[in-house]
Amino acid sequence: MRLVLDWDGTCTATDGLVLAVQRFGDPDVFEAAERGIGRRLTLHEVIDMELATMRVPVAEAVAFLLAELPLRPGFREVVAAHRPLILSSGFRELIEPLLVREGIDAEVLANRIDESPLARGEGWRAVWRDSAVCTVCGEACKRATLPAGEIVFVGDGYSDLCAAKAATRVFARDRLCGYLDAAGVAWEPYDDLFDVLRALG
Ligand SMILES: [Mg+2]
Ligand SMILES: [Zn+2]
Repeated sequence: MRLVLDWDGTCTATDGLVLAVQRFGDPDVFEAAERGIGRRLTLHEVIDMELATMRVPVAEAVAFLLAELPLRPGFREVVAAHRPLILSSGFRELIEPLLVREGIDAEVLANRIDESPLARGEGWRAVWRDSAVCTVCGEACKRATLPAGEIVFVGDGYSDLCAAKAATRVFARDRLCGYLDAAGVAWEPYDDLFDVLRALG
């Protein structure tokens, strides 16, 4: 069994990418983009729109997240017990400093931010790790990156849906619960990550 964790809103107390975009991006673009997720827009298109409104250096957003964003209780213990893969639709630049803050070493697969457009008065640009379109959901999603074999997947949002469908066992909170119900996929609830730890035994 391999444990795979989403990052934002799963390992973190709230979604750090959302927090950063709401703080430093354009709230109107954010609202419009989020309403389009899974309907008019792919997740990558939504995040592309949101990042394009960012007007501060990445370092400033990182400093904000370091000050404002706690991790979810039990994260340290889950990492120590299961050596999970953290599979994120977010960005290494916004994830790794939080792991450093906590002194936790974990395996992370995520995308990159190109902030060079700031120099010409534009916003951040996503450098996607994998843009291949999934044949199941029709978007670039996490499914193709899942390790082989039995997967326990822990997530909270739209970016987790397709990969969760491919998992043996799913722990869900927040919007992912409704997406899974609509898809007829069984899931177990968690609040903090100690819940996951206990359930895994
Ligand atoms: Mg998430
Ligand atoms: Zn997919």
